[in-house]
Amino acid sequence: MNPISGAGERVSSYSAHGAHGSVLVINSGSSSVKYQLVNPVGGEAIASGLVERIGEEDGIVTHKFAGNKAKVTLPVPDHGTALEIVLNQFKQHGPTLAEADVVAVGHRVVQGGSSFSGPVTIDDAVVEKIRDLIPLAPLHNPGHVAGIEVARRLLPDVPHVAIFDTAFFQTLPEAAYTYALETETAKANDIRRYGFHGTSHQYVSGKVSRVLGRRLEELNQIVLHLGNGASASAIRGGVAVETSMGLTPLEGLVMGTRTGDIDPAVIFHLHRNAGMSIDEIDDLLNKKSGIKGLAGDNDFRGLHELIAAGDAGAQLALDVYIHRLKKYIGAYHAILGRVDVITFTAGVGENDDIVRALTAKGLESLGIAIDPERNDERSPDPRIISPDWTSTLVMVVPTNEELAIARQCVALVAGDENAGSIS
Ligand code: ADP
Repeated sequence: MNPISGAGERVSSYSAHGAHGSVLVINSGSSSVKYQLVNPVGGEAIASGLVERIGEEDGIVTHKFAGNKAKVTLPVPDHGTALEIVLNQFKQHGPTLAEADVVAVGHRVVQGGSSFSGPVTIDDAVVEKIRDLIPLAPLHNPGHVAGIEVARRLLPDVPHVAIFDTAFFQTLPEAAYTYALETETAKANDIRRYGFHGTSHQYVSGKVSRVLGRRLEELNQIVLHLGNGASASAIRGGVAVETSMGLTPLEGLVMGTRTGDIDPAVIFHLHRNAGMSIDEIDDLLNKKSGIKGLAGDNDFRGLHELIAAGDAGAQLALDVYIHRLKKYIGAYHAILGRVDVITFTAGVGENDDIVRALTAKGLESLGIAIDPERNDERSPDPRIISPDWTSTLVMVVPTNEELAIARQCVALVAGDENAGSIS
């Protein structure tokens, strides 16, 4: 493999992962850079960190390795500086990237448009294409481009790979991805449904098949990725046929701070009658709505505390959230015809037994139910939480987007044509 050279002389107790090496996964957002050094074989995070408040005088840098956590506050004027800081963290706190035998850098990219249906090795043309897609993802793709450019410059000896959140959903049928918007305008502006969280939906549906010991091709699945952002997908035989997010990650389920589905006329109404600007409405729908907008707190642990204290707004927020989830399960049932497995994943899906129980409540006639004892059990492992009699299995499967990215990178670098389907 191809270790990064000249990455420092520091000797530590960390031992590299033999012939397999590790992958540095970078998620370069608008104002932060998250990173994780992943062993793609064992699956563990060797080290991880976060640079927050890029563009500010008081940027916050956190680096975790071998049970230690280093935190420092310093100015982080731009993404270039942020990535230089990241590399310095490895030199200072370990492991050095040479010790870790980094074989690839994987960059998470939110919007790949219609151009990318799988991971790609990054060259100048790929960077330009991601830049061209900025109008479709103005909050995300500029940070990705900046991060990729600097990372390629600072780590020139290893392949850089882009993994797109939208790629898994490039298989959606035309009827599912087309908005009933006048064709010429839609085409001229690349307006269609793209879907997001694809890396997670793909990883989790693949894991379900492995855990059950059943071929992916024979399973019809619904995956509910319920984190701060939330999305549902319908997957037939490993191929995504529906998903809840659209042109942007705003459509679909109720989320931590996003409305999900809403009548678009609300926007005209707020603009014309409440005098709000487009930017203000954008902010309202994306950052001030959802569970936070209804209950004042977007964390489900806080939400349940409010409900226990008798807060009516919090109760309504949960009711709206569950109602929307049920609607999507019903709709995806109709799309798939037969549902073999429904899987909960991400922060809420993995941890919140109340949300899971309420979501399945009343769906017995669809062959969907949850066993209370199995649902209550806390475990980091994939598990079945439905009773034995149901026609549809309900599962909890922890997602791991970083690992999925790392494995796709290694497969692509190794020349595997099916790299995009490796989870
Ligand atoms: P994202 O990656 O979208 O930021 P995560 O998948 O990390 O989100 O999920 C974060 C959310 O998970 C939190 O906002 C919180 O609502 C929820 N969450 C985390 N832990 C728990 C828990 N123990 N019980 C209920 N909800 C939880």
